[in-house]
Amino acid sequence: MAERLAYLLDRLGRAVHNLQFTDGLNPAQWGALRFISRAKPATCKPSALADYLCTTKGTISQTLKSLEIKGYIRKIAETKDRRVVRLVLTEAGRVMLTRDPLWHLEAAAAEMSDEITTATRVLSQYVKKLQGECGFKPFGVCPECGHFSGNICGQEGVPRCGLTGEPIAAREIEQICETFLSATN
Ligand code: SF4
Repeated sequence: MAERLAYLLDRLGRAVHNLQFTDGLNPAQWGALRFISRAKPATCKPSALADYLCTTKGTISQTLKSLEIKGYIRKIAETKDRRVVRLVLTEAGRVMLTRDPLWHLEAAAAEMSDEITTATRVLSQYVKKLQGECGFKPFGVCPECGHFSGNICGQEGVPRCGLTGEPIAAREIEQICETFLSATN
């Protein structure tokens, strides 16, 4: 059964990869657009993107250059330290993301209704295990993070990051973070 699961995941991975050669973009470029739209501002930088996509800084540099030329992203230097670059989507980038080819996956998952919760739980465990074994950074969102403390906005108290001690803005709660700590680590 384990062999069958590994085979299916390999087939799924190849299908997902091939789906993303569309609208003049490749899988890495689509991955970069998604990351930039979902990452916290402090995480939205080229080095974190390279870790997120499990690739090299050189490859990411080419990916970002291409997206910049196409007008989908911009690089903004931090005011405190001009050497630090933040990535932002342009309006054209936001429009392009509405054509994200991964909607095929969402549509297929939505049809599973009853099984989707179980599938999500099992795949989450699988991804977590593989990331740990391969030494990849986990990334994740505040409510699932081992550093998270406080209450969710709207309830009593202020959500806070236990790593920095800083309050977490409501809009950032569900954004991807580079310093995420897997809760069972
Ligand atoms: S380290 Fe964890 S709690 Fe802190 S901002 Fe990142 S995800 Fe949120």
